[in-house]
Amino acid sequence: MTEPDIPPPARRFEAVGFSEIVRVRNRVLELLASGEKVWRFEGGEPYMATPAPIREAMTRALERSETRYAPSSGIPPLRRALVEKVRLRNGIPADDESPIVVNGGMNGLFSAFATLVEPGDDVLLFSPYWTPIVDVIAYHGGRPVLVPTDEARRDGLSAALARRRTARAKVLYWNSPTNPTGAVFGRAEVEEVAAFVRDAGLALISDEAYEDLIYEGEGHVSPASFPGLYERTISVFTFSKTYSMTGWRVGYVIVPKRWRPAMQTVVLYSINGVSTPTQWAAVEALALGDGFLQEARVGYRRRRDALVEGLEGAGFELEPPRAALYLFPKIPPSLGTDSRKAALTLLDGAKVATVPGLVFGPEGEGHLRFSFSVAEEMIAGGVEALAAFAARGAAAR
Ligand code: PMP
Repeated sequence: MTEPDIPPPARRFEAVGFSEIVRVRNRVLELLASGEKVWRFEGGEPYMATPAPIREAMTRALERSETRYAPSSGIPPLRRALVEKVRLRNGIPADDESPIVVNGGMNGLFSAFATLVEPGDDVLLFSPYWTPIVDVIAYHGGRPVLVPTDEARRDGLSAALARRRTARAKVLYWNSPTNPTGAVFGRAEVEEVAAFVRDAGLALISDEAYEDLIYEGEGHVSPASFPGLYERTISVFTFSKTYSMTGWRVGYVIVPKRWRPAMQTVVLYSINGVSTPTQWAAVEALALGDGFLQEARVGYRRRRDALVEGLEGAGFELEPPRAALYLFPKIPPSLGTDSRKAALTLLDGAKVATVPGLVFGPEGEGHLRFSFSVAEEMIAGGVEALAAFAARGAAAR
């Protein structure tokens, strides 16, 4: 049969995948629809509701009829609060025009790559990485160049970067704390990467989605705080994880002068700004103070520790992460090393939903990602299901 005379989608999509995590979610939804109980660890969002003062601020904005077009880069009170936040908390030398309010971290990252990447450019990134990044790079005609994180941390970050750097390398994508491993790069490491980026004349896209979810040890370091880096860095932040606002779709980018007109144009012609009442809620979030986060971190730590203990008991080998929302254990030998197969086996056999490590790059193969940011009953039930599944397997062997 010949194709009807309907134009195909743009060719750039040929190189772009569609989130494999969605496949896992679809299978989970099928199981749930057929009445099964599923222990769900495949997600990636805060376990608690958005704090009441943030929700109330949106209600007040609606009551004041703050419902009209806002400037496409953001309402002035929010941009002012963002400048103060990144100057004080991140040490980034932002000026009044640096922040652009975007539709969450994903939109901030998409706009950052759109601003910088042209067909034929190479983008360096450490692997494992957050899944959508390679597709966003490919969408813009760029080529992802993977630098294995383990090798880099063993041999030195700049040595590993120098080995992989090509003549077409233009951008380094950086993510700390890291999804999926929960790893945090320390000050000395960030400084080393900053020096590499500066010396190599690269641009940096710094994804700081998990900056506030560090549970112990050294805190978050923003690369744009180092001398000479602000001018060559787009720092991408989101309200999603810090304030439990994943569904609100609000984040911000901090953009140096040279790239502002391009970035403002992308934002204008894609989203033309974030919903006005949502921006008023974001102003309130920034004014919240530390109490909410301190309490949230206690809850995260308790969940992390419970799931680490449970997984170790069920035969998984892992290093407890000190940040973000995820555990990234090795797959136990009884389940093989193919992460797609292992995830399906656990889903069908134990009704435990995880994400195959391979979707985070070849360096993620042999691992599964579990989110510990779930109800504590989910952790208890899931761990029990895993232990029962492991015992059944042992009895069968
Ligand atoms: N960066 C990383 C590393 C993430 O894990 C996520 C969300 N999973 C984001 C950015 C974007 O989050 P959002 O679009 O909700 O702000």
